[in-house]
Formats: sequence, structure tokens, C-alpha cells
Amino acid sequence: MKGTLYIVATPIGNLEDITLRALRILKEVDLIAAEDTRQTLKLLNHFEISKPLISYHRHNEEVKSEILIQKLENGENIALVSDAGTPGICDPGEDVIKKAIEEGINVVPIPGACAMVNALIASGIDTKEFIFLGFLPLNKKTRIEKLREIKESEKTIIIYEAPHKMKNTLKELSEILQERKIVLARELTKIHEEFIREDINFLMEKIENLKGEMILIIEGKKKENNIENELNNLSLEEHYKYYEEQGFDKKDIIKKIAKDRNVNKNEIYMKFIK
Ligand code: SAM
Repeated sequence: MKGTLYIVATPIGNLEDITLRALRILKEVDLIAAEDTRQTLKLLNHFEISKPLISYHRHNEEVKSEILIQKLENGENIALVSDAGTPGICDPGEDVIKKAIEEGINVVPIPGACAMVNALIASGIDTKEFIFLGFLPLNKKTRIEKLREIKESEKTIIIYEAPHKMKNTLKELSEILQERKIVLARELTKIHEEFIREDINFLMEKIENLKGEMILIIEGKKKENNIENELNNLSLEEHYKYYEEQGFDKKDIIKKIAKDRNVNKNEIYMKFIK
């Protein structure tokens, strides 16, 4: 029988954030594939777990994936962990997970800490719809495209950023964001955890003195409250009356309603001759 690949989330700072299930799986598997074996060893030692480790990081992902798949095919159970948080989220994992699925190997997520989710939920910014962009690309052209996406997004945006690059990123954002809210979440789950809910100019001034791991949560662009949106929320009869009161004749009203609602005018016409 083939083994199972467990994707195990580990703490992002506070060791109490490991789950009971994660600890059990780490104790039960045959092997742990770790982004940095020294880092994972510290975690395992803390919880008195002794297990063989194999390194699995960005620069050996392809080769190591093949080795891990072979072991899974041979029936070994493997836990995949990253240095902190959820594997695959701006951390290695994708490659072996995709290959395991292709080979019909059981892939089981073991939930736990993920920095972006925790930054978002305590930010105070809309959580209903959001986009996670991870780290902004360094390539100039793709970076400009991402900044444009941020400018136009009506959904909340989440960005990871390295502390030494934050100043430059804030500067770029300040040029496109205008009045939108922005929250900087820092050192989540650690002693110096902090949420800075100020405007971007304040953040740019303060950033020189900030250390540690950081995330930005940016409010989406305000939805354009255009007249079509309002009209389309009316009933068809109310929509009709709106134009009638402006003096339009029946033919023009039907044309206008069809345009607002992006439907064929015959469809509207049929509704009014019934
Ligand atoms: N896999 C991780 C997760 O589940 O969130 C993310 C790993 S990614 C390489 C590291 C980035 O995540 C950091 O640069 C920072 O933006 C964010 N991050 C991780 N831990 C954090 C923490 N405790 N507080 C704030 N941001 C954190």
C-alpha cells in the first residue's frame, strides 16, 4: 500500500500554536521532509520527537520530490514541514504535492498557523473577499503589473514582504493607494506582535525603526457606486419608472434598461407586453 503525504503546519513564532494532531502525525510518520532540517530539529527537540529528517527546499525541490514520491510509493508515510507556518504558502511544497496527486498518493493537510490568515483576521479590514499576492515580484515589469492589480482590486489585498524591502514597497504603494486603509502586521504570535493601523505616510516614517517579520493588509478600492449598479438593484417596474419620469418614450426606456442590465432588449420588451 502507498504511504500518505501529510502537509503539516508548524508555528509562526509561538510554539504553543502547534496542534495536537500535528504533534501526533510528526511522531507517527516514517520521515519528515523539512525546508531547513536544523530549524525543524529545534521544533522536534522542543517536543521531544525523534524522527529521520530529509531536506526539501526551493533549490532541491525537483530532485527531492522524486525521492519522496519513491518512498511514498514504497509505503512510507511522510510529513512535509516548512520553517514556519503552512507549507506551500510562500514556502516549498507545491512540487511534491502535485506529483503525489498525479501518482494517486493520499495527500492530507494538517491545519495550523498561517501568517497571512492571522494578519487578515485581526486587521479590521474587510475579510469577505481577498487576494493573497505573497511576495511582490522583483522583476520590474511583473512588479508594475502587480502594483496595477493592487490599485484596481476591489478586494482586500495581502502581501508578504521582507523587512529590508518594506520601505521601498511602501513608497511604491503610496504612489497608487491614495486614501485606502493599510495595516502592517508584525511579529505575529511573538512577544512584540503589533498591528499598525495608520495611514501609509505614517508607516513610511515609522518603518526605519521596525524589525521582524511583516505583512501588509490593504483595503480594496472603493466600489464605484455608479448609477447602473443602483438601477439594477431596482425591480424592472421601478427601473422603467425611473426613465419614464425623465420623459423617455417606451422604446427608449426598453433600450436603456437592456443596456443597464446587459441583456437583449427583446427580453425586456417581452416583460412589458405581458
Ligand atoms: N508559510 C508561511 C505562512 O504560512 O505564512 C510563510 C512563509 S514566508 C517565507 C515568510 C513571510 O511570511 C515573512 O516574510 C512575513 O511576511 C510572513 N510571516 C511569517 N511569519 C510571520 C509572523 N510571525 N509575523 C508576521 N509575518 C510573518
